Amino acid sequence: LKFGGSSVGNAERIEQVIRIVKNESVRHQLVVVASAFGKVTNKLEQCGQLAGNGDYEYEKLLKKIETLHMGIVRELFPLQNQSSVIADVKLLLNELEDICHGIFLLKEVFPRTHDYLLGFGERLSGIILSSLLNTRGVKMNLLDARKLILTDETYGNAQVNKEESYARIQSVFNRIDGHAFVPGFIAASPSGKMTTLGRGGSDYTAALLAAALHADALEIWTDVDGVMTADPRMVSQALPLQKLSYEEIMELSHFGAKV
Ligand code: ASP
Ligand code: MG
Repeated sequence: LKFGGSSVGNAERIEQVIRIVKNESVRHQLVVVASAFGKVTNKLEQCGQLAGNGDYEYEKLLKKIETLHMGIVRELFPLQNQSSVIADVKLLLNELEDICHGIFLLKEVFPRTHDYLLGFGERLSGIILSSLLNTRGVKMNLLDARKLILTDETYGNAQVNKEESYARIQSVFNRIDGHAFVPGFIAASPSGKMTTLGRGGSDYTAALLAAALHADALEIWTDVDGVMTADPRMVSQALPLQKLSYEEIMELSHFGAKV
């Protein structure tokens, strides 16, 4: 099951994700893949740009990223479970702050640094969502996507070595028991340098896992009710379509339909 950024955009949406995962977890062995919380990747990108320009404003944006994650933790975790997840989140946020400070000093965002920076979103959402699921009684093994998905070093749009990745995924999953949680979007090169699969890459992470594990199904969840007759933001009378063939949806996608 893959959940994108807008599906985990706020506490209410996350509750819905928890419900879906909980329901499915009774009947299936699950691998849950999630993106960064809504718009966090864009904010990280902006942070890098500001810091790279020597603009102190990046600190304000960092603060926003921190507030967003901490707010979600405070809203969703029972008080007695907050301290350990807050500690993990703080550790990552501190590292993020250091990286941004480094960019600020160097006044340049190198491609490798850029990937490292953008990857914080999925690392943060991964910690929060997997421990939330554990707190809610769905036992999740949080796996490090960088140990599962192996790529070259084309930063920003790394190319996956499928053979090696499938072998790693299979061997790691052979050793774990129960459900797994894998952050989307991030990967690593053979020498361990963090890479990303390109913007929107969490779908690809989920597809790679599904293929490697011969999953019965891959579900890409989103926060709209289906494919509609038109973009509902532009056409208020748009209706959800009852049925759509693979050929039709493929044709739509070739012509740029975003759904
Ligand atoms: N968080 C990444 C992005 O915004 C990956 C994804 O959402 O699929 O591009
Ligand atoms: Mg997406």
